[in-house]
Amino acid sequence: MTQYDTNNIFAKILRGEIPSHTVYEDDAVIAFMDVMPQADGHALVVPKSPSRNLLDADPATLPALIAAVQKLAVASKKAFVADGITIMQFNEAPAGQSVFHLHFHIIPRHEGHPMRA
Ligand code: 5GP
Repeated sequence: MTQYDTNNIFAKILRGEIPSHTVYEDDAVIAFMDVMPQADGHALVVPKSPSRNLLDADPATLPALIAAVQKLAVASKKAFVADGITIMQFNEAPAGQSVFHLHFHIIPRHEGHPMRA
C-alpha cells in the first residue's frame, strides 16, 4: 500500500492552507464543494483523519464518515431539489482516484440531466 502523502490537496484544505467552500463540518468530517462539479451541487465529504482511500482507512473512523455522507446526501437532495443523489468513491489511480485523501462525492441528480465529464 502506498503511503499517505501529507501534501495532498485535501490535507492542505483540512489544515486551512488553501481555501474551500465548506458546507458542513463536525469533529470527524469536513464537506466542501468540488471545484470542477460534475453536476450543480457536487460536494465532497472528507474525513479529518489521514487515510489515502477506503482501503487503508481505520475502521473506527467509518461510522462517523458514513453518517456524514448520509447527512450530506439528504441535505443535498433537499437543497438542490434533486430527483436522486449519486455517491461515488474511488480507490487508487486506475480506479479513478486523483486526490489521495479518502473522500466521497455527493452529486445531486435531476431527471434527464447526465453528469458532466
Ligand atoms: P477523485 O477523482 O480523486 O475521486 O476526485 C477528486 C475531486 O477533487 C475531483 O472531483 C476534483 O474536481 C476535486 N478537486 C481537485 N482539486 C480540488 C481543490 O483544490 N478544491 C476542491 N474543492 N476540489 C478539488
